[in-house]
Amino acid sequence: MTLEVIRSRMAVAAESAGRSASAVTLIAVSKVQPLDRVTAVLEQGQRVFGENKVQEAQGKWPNFRAQFGAVDLHLIGPLQTNKARAAMDLFDAIHTVDRPKLVTTLARLAQDLGRCPHLFVQVNTGAEPQKAGVLPQDTDSLIQAVRDSDLPLSGLMCIPPADADPAPHFAMLRDIAARNGLTGLSMGMSSDFETAIAYGATHIRVGSAIFGERTPA
Ligand SMILES: *Cc1c(COP(=O)(O)O)cnc(C)c1O
Repeated sequence: MTLEVIRSRMAVAAESAGRSASAVTLIAVSKVQPLDRVTAVLEQGQRVFGENKVQEAQGKWPNFRAQFGAVDLHLIGPLQTNKARAAMDLFDAIHTVDRPKLVTTLARLAQDLGRCPHLFVQVNTGAEPQKAGVLPQDTDSLIQAVRDSDLPLSGLMCIPPADADPAPHFAMLRDIAARNGLTGLSMGMSSDFETAIAYGATHIRVGSAIFGERTPA
């Protein structure tokens, strides 16, 4: 699918939800994609991208930024504390803050560096044991910890269980954000971004619908 088709589907979804299309940021998820496909999307003017691994992103984005200028880069995969500094150097936003230890590390690094990417707290809305994210019942206190550390908190992120109806998960994320006074909602992927927009997504993370299927390495 082309970027243009995704953008028009976003606009239709926003309009039927009574929202402005400009209130939704499209993050093009370029993980594992061949570089020529990423180049093609950059050439179409897309400047917001998502990656799920720090090392993989380090291998391609400095070059792309040198070639294409400023690119807004979002980390959407789990972050280990030993990669936190590298992540803060490379990314403009980190969507996967999910435990107090990571908050402590980010706070210390933010002091050192004098800046910090925009942060999202990842919520494991389906309470899946294998999945990253803070459990719903622990989310308010993690949000408080981020705020107590004076870190820039933009909102919440979730990845609904693979074969469930995503709508209740999007609704849960929206409700947790609302009761905590947060406006950013990173939710919705290739298969469900229109539903996510209906539930208030401000950032959708779309990979395969833009770039084509990822061939496993
Ligand atoms: C890979 C990935 C996406 C994009 O998934 P698609 O189904 O290809 O759109 C979105 N969010 C996260 C966290 C991902 O890891």
